[in-house]
Amino acid sequence: MKRRDFIKGATVAGAGAAIAAASSFPKPAIAQDVIEWRMVTSWPKGLPGVFTGAERVARRIESASNGRMKITVYGAGEVVPGLQVFDAVSNGTAEMGHDAAYYHTGKSKGAAFFTTVPYGLTQVEHNAWVQIGGGQALWDELYGQFNLKPFLCGNTGVQMGGWFRNEIKDAEDFKGLKFRMPGMGGEVLKKLGATVVLLPGGETFAALQSGAIDGTEWIGPYNDLSMGFYKVAPNYYWPGIHEPGASLQLTINKEKFEALPKDLQDIVAAAAGEENQMMASEYFERSGAALETLVRDHGVKLRQFPRSVLIALGNASGEVIQEALDSGDPMTQKIITHFLKARTNLVRWTRVSDQGFANARLLDFKYPTGA
Ligand code: CA
Repeated sequence: MKRRDFIKGATVAGAGAAIAAASSFPKPAIAQDVIEWRMVTSWPKGLPGVFTGAERVARRIESASNGRMKITVYGAGEVVPGLQVFDAVSNGTAEMGHDAAYYHTGKSKGAAFFTTVPYGLTQVEHNAWVQIGGGQALWDELYGQFNLKPFLCGNTGVQMGGWFRNEIKDAEDFKGLKFRMPGMGGEVLKKLGATVVLLPGGETFAALQSGAIDGTEWIGPYNDLSMGFYKVAPNYYWPGIHEPGASLQLTINKEKFEALPKDLQDIVAAAAGEENQMMASEYFERSGAALETLVRDHGVKLRQFPRSVLIALGNASGEVIQEALDSGDPMTQKIITHFLKARTNLVRWTRVSDQGFANARLLDFKYPTGA
């Protein structure tokens, strides 16, 4: 035997002995119990975008924690009704929730500013305010009063103005219009003389068909396509100034969150952050194709609100925001004042960056289409 072969053989034999020795030790006992949590949501089970996004964040927390956390996601009504997610997580009925802050303006008008408000911020701007501009600290302070820890977790992007049976040619056309629009957007339409109706999504098509309402807003093409509103109200208006970038939230029972080991807290926060962007990307990517289907296959009339209407909506929005500021408790006033200062700063930058570029890209020049 050559010397080199001998050395090689010895090494292999040595390694084999080491493996045999290691495997003869008992496996270490797994001391950690699996943390099993429930996530309640405001969404119809399986609804693409919001519900599937809530499920995606739950799966990510499970995989990133190597199975140390297991989260079961529930649709609206399975554990609690869709609008009771906030209370259920606050009182510990469920450990986590996925819904929208603006459902809870009954707790504080300031809550709306963590989702979206009329003529407020785009998705990019809202992330900038919450993540970097100081919004998260105010959100933590507000929600801390309710034993909740909030995270940004998804965004629908700019929504559509809604479905109208008849054309909107000027602000006068809102007078007497019976329209479904929840939240501060509804307050804006009331100022223009509309009769605002609050209806759950599931009852909206029937109300539109029977003539009980003249129109409705919903989300955007990705979700609106399956609702069938175009069959009775074919005028589809843009842009949805009432919800320019609706952020969704992951809420966690604060005591339960603080009791987690630090690494699991970080995993939950990272998964929420990842889903915040992932869901926004999903809405952005899917909406263009859905809009094309609506226009091409279903005869939808895509219309831009006239300039005079956009200005009237803007003035009405300004009044609604001012009233919320004037009538709010000190915490609400602190949130709104902070938001408005941030908005001024962010609008200044958007004008020369995203908006400046998007306008330039629409100018008349030759560019390949990929077709
Ligand atoms: Ca909406």
